[in-house]
Amino acid sequence: MATLFTKIINREIPADIVYEDDHVVAFRDISPQAPVHILIVPRQEIPGLAFLPDEGDHLHLLNAAKKIAEQFELHSGYRLVINQGEEAGQTVPHLHAHLLGGRILTWPPG
Ligand code: AMP
Repeated sequence: MATLFTKIINREIPADIVYEDDHVVAFRDISPQAPVHILIVPRQEIPGLAFLPDEGDHLHLLNAAKKIAEQFELHSGYRLVINQGEEAGQTVPHLHAHLLGGRILTWPPG
């Protein structure tokens, strides 16, 4: 069965898509934790970092993040987060990176 994010990628579920290329699709998080909170999702259904294949769409994720950060003019800084597994708070089993920006981001994260 397709993941929630595959359904968004296939336009079966609406989302505010802000970027896409041959390898990834990026859209606004439905529950934003910062003024800019974008999810960057490889088209390929990879359940998470722990299941990463050697090759695939995920290899383009960092370059997409850089482009999207430029698109949103996050010149002062931004953060890229991948939650892997239950203890890290992963809720959607389709690899995705959170791009957060537009406010001061404290460290360590919660
Ligand atoms: P994670 O907890 O790292 O797996 O991240 C999943 C993210 O998906 C959460 O930040 C949710 O707010 C977000 N999310 C869940 N459903 C949707 C949706 N339909 N559209 C956009 N973002 C969503």
